[in-house]
Amino acid sequence: MRDRRDMNDVLEKEANKRTAALAEVNRALEEEIARHRKANGALCQVSALLECSSEGIIIADGRARIVAVNRAFTEITGYEAEEVIGKTTRSLQSGRRDFAFYSTMRRLIRDMGRWQGEIWNRRKDGALYPALLKVTVVRDEAGVVTHYVGVLSDLSAKKASEARFEHLAHYDALTNLPNRLLFRARVEHAIVRARSGRHHLAVLLLGVDGFKHINESLGHPAGDELLRLLAARLQGLTREGNTVARRSGDEFGILLDGVPSSESAGRAGWNVLEGIGRPFEIKGQEVFLTCSAGISLFPEDGTDFTTLIQNAEVALHRAKGSGSNKYQFYTAEMTERAYERFVTECDLRRAFQRREFVLHFQPQFSLRTHELTGVEALARWQHPERGLVTPDSFIPIAEETGLIDGLGAWAVREACDQAVSWQADSLPPVRVAVNLSTRQIVSSQMVQTVSSVLRETGLAPELLELEITEGFLMEQPETARNTLQELKNIGVTLAIDDFGTGYSSLSYLKMYPIDRLKIDQSFIRDIPFRPDDRAIARAIITLGHGLSLKVIAEGVETEEQARFLRANLCDEVQGYFYGRPMPAAALGDVLGKGPPR
Ligand code: C2E
Ligand code: MG
Ligand code: MG
Repeated sequence: MRDRRDMNDVLEKEANKRTAALAEVNRALEEEIARHRKANGALCQVSALLECSSEGIIIADGRARIVAVNRAFTEITGYEAEEVIGKTTRSLQSGRRDFAFYSTMRRLIRDMGRWQGEIWNRRKDGALYPALLKVTVVRDEAGVVTHYVGVLSDLSAKKASEARFEHLAHYDALTNLPNRLLFRARVEHAIVRARSGRHHLAVLLLGVDGFKHINESLGHPAGDELLRLLAARLQGLTREGNTVARRSGDEFGILLDGVPSSESAGRAGWNVLEGIGRPFEIKGQEVFLTCSAGISLFPEDGTDFTTLIQNAEVALHRAKGSGSNKYQFYTAEMTERAYERFVTECDLRRAFQRREFVLHFQPQFSLRTHELTGVEALARWQHPERGLVTPDSFIPIAEETGLIDGLGAWAVREACDQAVSWQADSLPPVRVAVNLSTRQIVSSQMVQTVSSVLRETGLAPELLELEITEGFLMEQPETARNTLQELKNIGVTLAIDDFGTGYSSLSYLKMYPIDRLKIDQSFIRDIPFRPDDRAIARAIITLGHGLSLKVIAEGVETEEQARFLRANLCDEVQGYFYGRPMPAAALGDVLGKGPPR
């Protein structure tokens, strides 16, 4: 009996022990479940956080393969999660940054554990966008990289609003032209460049004549429209690279960058005023407008922005005071010069149509045989009021305005015609030399003109000589070589005019197919008095002969000069001592008579 009771006690104790152990397991299990629930809750929170973030989030594994992205990522890039998961982050790059950029980025991520910077990525639709990217590295306890977390913010809206702000700060809202601020910056920048490049620039201020009256009579909206149209017209009237700005209500500023001369600034001023003279159309109605302009020049009228503007304002004020539709330079002398130049230019255009140009011919003689060997054709302008005008006062303008193309072609034709007509008068054949300006010779028409003139007139090509200056050979060596070779192939001869005054780089002499050197008259003038001129003339003769070229001296005015040149074996001479440039008929007489001495 006792044994049974003992047995029951043992069993009960055992049962209690088991129950306690089970309770312990149960409690541990419950704790574990609670912990999991908590962790799961935290995970849910993190995932919710990722989803509602406005920044794109990319999680990639240790080999940079994307394992998760959030909604914002899809919104920014256009890629759904399943389109990028499994791909490397490299597939999102735009290619706009170079290899070095990404390799530095990777190095910094590896060494520092994080990186942040601006990048350019490509959206699914191909569009590029700027973004701020922050990358953080996740490592396990052993320090091995398990994940990369990237946070991506789209900067395109921010950049666009910055650009809009920038535009508003620098451009005029009505006309969309640069405003006063940007005009100043552009002029200052141009001054710096002009200073180092030693070129000129001009500031032109333009005021609308009687704008108040226009506003009052047409109303302000029409006034605004007119300013808008004027702004667009002004942009069309100025060369690319020049800035047109609206400085205030009815005042505009034009930066003429790199104008070759004050005259060309004057011409630009005149072009602008003339262009404004064409009618504007507002509400189907033609409206006429005039402006006044003031011009100041760098460096003549000022070397800094403030002085240039002040002086242009003074000039504008003066232009307005002298009536509408005028421009004035800051200095009266400039205005005068520009005016004269302008008149000459207009006259020159008319002269061509009115056939006011003639050629005079200056004889060239052999120093050995005294025979007439050639003539140089020199252009003259028979001005109805000014009389015979020499080329120095119109060739430069013709070159600048492009009229030289027509004038030059005319000179070649006229000279060849004349040479043929002397032959027709039974005079001995004579070589005729025509001057070519640089602008002419770079024109693609040049070779074509020469060959067709020779064909049409029937003049033997070797009787036509073309004179070119050193400047051209140095400025455009490649064009020069090709053009001269083509001319040579036609059979004409080539001479270098004013030799010794240009760059005188001797290496070009052997590069080009030249026949003759013309010693510039400045070296002849003081012979026999100046030893240095004597030395130069002698050196040119020796050099020319060394290269198998003929040498001719220009501007020979005295017997001593002729004697010196003969003693130094110069081949030919040309100058007042032998004969001035003369009309064709007079030269015909010289040709018929034979050598003068
Ligand atoms: P250039 O070709 O060097 O012509 C020589 C110039 O020296 C001519 O001046 C001539 O009248 C002048 N001259 C000749 N002998 C003497 C002299 O003994 N003493 C002095 N003091 N001067 C003398 P011009 O006719 O006034 O021509 C000036 C320049 O105009 C020419 O210089 C030439 O470069 C250019 N030119 C003339 N006609 C034409 C043309 O048809 N086309 C082009 N592109 N340029 C031309
Ligand atoms: Mg000449
Ligand atoms: Mg000359």
